[in-house]
Amino acid sequence: MTGPGDGPDQVAADRFGPPEDDIARLWTPHRMVYIGGQDKPADSTPQQCPFCRIPTGEDADGLVVARGADCFALLNLYPYNGGHLMVLPYRHVSDYTDLTGAETTELAAMTQEAMRVLRTVYAPAGFNLGMNQGEVAGAGIAAHLHQHVVPRWLGDANFLPVVGRTKALPELLADTRARLAAAWPAR
Ligand SMILES: [Zn+2]
Repeated sequence: MTGPGDGPDQVAADRFGPPEDDIARLWTPHRMVYIGGQDKPADSTPQQCPFCRIPTGEDADGLVVARGADCFALLNLYPYNGGHLMVLPYRHVSDYTDLTGAETTELAAMTQEAMRVLRTVYAPAGFNLGMNQGEVAGAGIAAHLHQHVVPRWLGDANFLPVVGRTKALPELLADTRARLAAAWPAR
């Protein structure tokens, strides 16, 4: 038996471990699911599309917050901030100009409702709203358009996400969904 620091294992750890520096590391292996694209659709068909599949199941299972006639709202599984919602049509459509008049109107109305509900529940200082059109523009699931509603708080873009590429999310998604769904006005 050799003690710590003087055996062959310690030599190996010294050789293959990270270089010594002053940077603390917060390990987030769950992020590999997203980085590795494990749940990204294999193609752009509705059969592969999570946004087509989710409304056929239970609200809690799919993190659905509210359902309208033509559109619905759900929590982002990979939120930029707590309460990060998406509003999207039920119909599998990729381009904003392809929405019907009814879909366009309800998408806008539910975006407003999302802002009101988030203000009531979490009192954010501001919002980022927007749609990434096309993979080149940053859309994770480009085949089914979705409007992001991201609540913002002062200081939420501090060193941790900007330098560390890490977000601290203080609440579990299931709890966030339940609170927002309860606060959403009946449609
Ligand atoms: Zn779809």
